[in-house]
Amino acid sequence: MEFEIIRPNIGEPTDIIECQLCELSYNLDEYRILLDLGKLGYFFNEELGFSCHSCLFQIGKKMLKLSGKDEYRLLIKEGDKLQSLLFNKDA
Ligand SMILES: [Zn+2]
Repeated sequence: MEFEIIRPNIGEPTDIIECQLCELSYNLDEYRILLDLGKLGYFFNEELGFSCHSCLFQIGKKMLKLSGKDEYRLLIKEGDKLQSLLFNKDA
């Protein structure tokens, strides 16, 4: 499953970004600060929409369970860079 990290420069500083799973929301100016501090990230997936980093972890755990495998990777895209977030049974 692939997600794209949301950069805070996608709109006006007063625009609101909201996690569609837990409804955690910030304006983009606040989000920029939190992202810089490494406190928060928002991610986008075509099926699931916007999600915050803690929901992203829940999704990873759930996908691992559903896959029935020992490990599962979420792919995180940032511009041209692709990172993966590994979830495994023992973690
Ligand atoms: Zn959330």
